[in-house]
Amino acid sequence: MSPFLQVCGLTRRYGGVAALDSLTLDIARGQVTGLIGPNGAGKTTLLNALTGLARPDSGKVLLEGDDVTGLPAHLMAGKGVVRSFQIVRELSSLTVFETLLVAPPGQRGETLLGALFGRRKWWAQERENAGAARALLERVGLLKLADQPSSLLSGGQKKLLEMARALLMRPKLILLDEPGAGVSPPLRLEIVRLVRELKAEGLSFGIVEHDMHLVEEVCDRVHVLAQGRALVSGTFAEATADPRVVSAYLGVAA
Ligand code: ATP
Repeated sequence: MSPFLQVCGLTRRYGGVAALDSLTLDIARGQVTGLIGPNGAGKTTLLNALTGLARPDSGKVLLEGDDVTGLPAHLMAGKGVVRSFQIVRELSSLTVFETLLVAPPGQRGETLLGALFGRRKWWAQERENAGAARALLERVGLLKLADQPSSLLSGGQKKLLEMARALLMRPKLILLDEPGAGVSPPLRLEIVRLVRELKAEGLSFGIVEHDMHLVEEVCDRVHVLAQGRALVSGTFAEATADPRVVSAYLGVAA
């Protein structure tokens, strides 16, 4: 099966640092692809480059064969590629339901603050989405908390709300940034269950994660990144058995 998304020789520099250094990898359709690697490997920069938040200096991103390199976030979202965003402190006074409806950065061409201060167009669009939003809250188990301030949510509940925010955009590929970080065991199970269920419905995933148990549980394949490049790709078992991967995590040459 052809890959859903292909990254071909992608480079993104910050000053003298190549956060992505001619990176080549692909994300399969209908699978969960893990993007793992040591700190500073370029994982977050990759998510940003795939969702219009970091413009690559060179290289290409192909989505179902079409060149989508450097498209802004709202156009990538329109094509079905959406990433999750941490619920920032500015949102904590909003209810869970309101937080779900606040546009993530760069989406729909609106800024987060613009959304917070109530642009008419945004609200009109979101009113249409209110029914879908309630259904999503129910799906992630947060409907009973819809009218509570989102500041009261636990780490795991915030992750579920972040997933619901991304799902509200009706993605084909959802990119999750550390869905297991700061999550209690019961909600971790809930996140694993939800990822598997959505995958069974045909959604593709790219997951940046440091929790290797979670990666092993949900990922069909992983790409191990190191210094902006793809070091090893394969199943979790294949990748973690590779001495280059062990060396990259330990910070020593193989
Ligand atoms: P972690 O697992 O610690 O989150 P990561 O794999 O997500 O790391 P990135 O955050 O993508 O790595 O960073 C890759 C490299 O690019 C690092 O050296 C980082 O310092 C640098 N970098 C990333 N974003 C910026 C930025 N906005 N300005 C300057 N340097 C940056």
